[in-house]
Amino acid sequence: MRCLYCHRRLEPELDLLNLFTRPGPLCSECEIRLKEWRKGGRCGRCRRLMGEGEAECRDCIYLKSRFPPVGKIMCMLDYNEEVKMLMHRYKFVRDIALAEVLSYFITVGRRDYDHFVPIPVSPGRFRDRGFNQITEVLKRAGLPQSNLLETGKVKLQSELSRHERMSSANPFTFNEEYRDVRLRDTRILIVDDIYTTGITVHHAAEVLLHHEPAALDVLTFSKA
Ligand SMILES: [Zn+2]
Ligand SMILES: [Zn+2]
Repeated sequence: MRCLYCHRRLEPELDLLNLFTRPGPLCSECEIRLKEWRKGGRCGRCRRLMGEGEAECRDCIYLKSRFPPVGKIMCMLDYNEEVKMLMHRYKFVRDIALAEVLSYFITVGRRDYDHFVPIPVSPGRFRDRGFNQITEVLKRAGLPQSNLLETGKVKLQSELSRHERMSSANPFTFNEEYRDVRLRDTRILIVDDIYTTGITVHHAAEVLLHHEPAALDVLTFSKA
């Protein structure tokens, strides 16, 4: 077997501990590098690196004032240099096998939520990339998906300025194909790849909260 990230051969040392457990898809060096969090004070909620003397996270303060309340925010990885590289290879070089690497870090199970909702990509972006980067990871993690959201937006979040991101209108709408599916009192998990300001997932949550779920949490692959 080879490490899915650096392609080096994995040499499993057979001992009593790993004899009965399936080896992971990564060599230990890659696993350590991908899992590393950049040093510094973090927001307890969104894990943003806080500025010097910043008592409360300004992103979370803004979100609280602008959006209805969302439950937990879970970030699998920091957006460190290695994760940045992984995301680039995955999304832009379209090395779709890397979805397996990301799925390895998912800690929620299929019983934890009733609906796993990937942030949708616009039809244009889907055509260019050929896949939805979130959907592929969920598939490999063995999680079912409810495509409750649709989007037709043209501009990428990364193409917008901070101010534009904060003020832009909601790019998501409810996917009417799901209008007969029960959402009320269910547990919903929104899944995104990179949490930057949090605006994207809060826009998504805003649409879904109209359906009165019992819980609505967020999982992102990395925290920028
Ligand atoms: Zn490796
Ligand atoms: Zn925060």
